[in-house]
Amino acid sequence: MRDFNDILIVGAGLAGACAALFLSESHRVRVLEAERPAAGASGAAAGLANPFMGRRARPVWRMPEALDALHEARARADAEAAFTAAGVLRPALDARQAEPFRQTADRFPDRACWLPAPAVTERYPAVHAPHGALLVTAGGAIAVPAFVEAMLAAARKRGAEVHTGHRLRAWGEHDGIAYVDLDSGERLHAGTVLLAMGYGGLLHPALSNLHLHGVKGQTVRLRRPAGLEPLPPLSGSGYVVPDGETLVLGSSYEHTFDDLRPSPEQTRRILDQARRMVPTLPDAALVEETAGVRVGVPGTRRPLLGPLPGHRRCWIFTGLGSKGLLMAPLLARWLPRALTDPAILPLEVRVSLKPA
Ligand SMILES: Cc1cc2nc3c(=O)[nH]c(=O)nc-3n(C[C@H](O)[C@H](O)[C@H](O)COP(=O)(O)OP(=O)(O)OC[C@H]3O[C@@H](n4cnc5c(N)ncnc54)[C@H](O)[C@@H]3O)c2cc1C
Repeated sequence: MRDFNDILIVGAGLAGACAALFLSESHRVRVLEAERPAAGASGAAAGLANPFMGRRARPVWRMPEALDALHEARARADAEAAFTAAGVLRPALDARQAEPFRQTADRFPDRACWLPAPAVTERYPAVHAPHGALLVTAGGAIAVPAFVEAMLAAARKRGAEVHTGHRLRAWGEHDGIAYVDLDSGERLHAGTVLLAMGYGGLLHPALSNLHLHGVKGQTVRLRRPAGLEPLPPLSGSGYVVPDGETLVLGSSYEHTFDDLRPSPEQTRRILDQARRMVPTLPDAALVEETAGVRVGVPGTRRPLLGPLPGHRRCWIFTGLGSKGLLMAPLLARWLPRALTDPAILPLEVRVSLKPA
């Protein structure tokens, strides 16, 4: 008798790790990862959890639920220590941007407040914000690779298996059972296969009908300069995210790219941008440059979760764009129920074929 309660998750980035975390309580979970956990975009992310994104600082989709799901994932994974709850400071780029930022602070006083320029200087002397700044008190930062590892560790404690060095080549279903074929030639069966391969999915010819779009991004890690006053996570002209003895600076948005390596030109641009917010940042303290690809769904700009067209037991979980930290836990939390009843998923995230 086949056990339909077993799930094969392919990919151990934010999507796959969140899915493993939320499913491992009720299902037998196996995670297959081609390289190592957080080898893709999740390893390049700066780690901002900012519910008011974009030029006008509008709330992300399903903001209260998304914040709650992130909080729940952190608690379940025992990853509270990896989270910096200092808020996210968004210096306004000019007087025009200050206006929508103030409106956001007025509309969501329990999640954000407006700081005029003198208040920013008093609170954060290292930060240059001549037009004032929105302090997103509901936001913060989390070291994404550590968070991914913590979620996988918590899933393992509930019986999940995580196998690295297993690259998926193909998938399908027959007689009501799903399977994956690996590069090694092995075939594995499961009640459900969940594809959470990030850019690996975008490259797979069998998913070309989803028309996913990739945006390469680079981050730069600097040693924290001695004597730098305390900084909150910053997002404005690029971003600056404190992480222990280092600062993570980002990011580039490259819609066309030939390779996935970080480039010195982008490093220079990122440093120049960050210096508009923190003028005293030095040049010489470079520790690491990392690049990854954000996967998005053109048109809807929502993530994707659900059975692939023409399948019942092969699912996809992708399209987290720049909001992996807020979207992955939100969607993963629906999975245990959605696997038996996909109709509970909001229409906005369900998979449908778009015209070419
Ligand atoms: C530069 C940059 C900065 C970012 N900053 C932030 C931020 O501050 N805050 C935020 O919320 N989001 C941020 N993001 C977005 C966030 O990183 C992504 O939304 C999220 O990490 C995507 O997670 P994922 O699991 O879908 O994909 P990935 O992290 O790419 O994971 C996919 C995994 O699947 C594996 N894989 C691929 N193909 C196969 C295969 N055939 N077989 C087996 N395994 C396979 C890969 O090795 C990888 O480990 C940033 C992204 C970038 C690039």
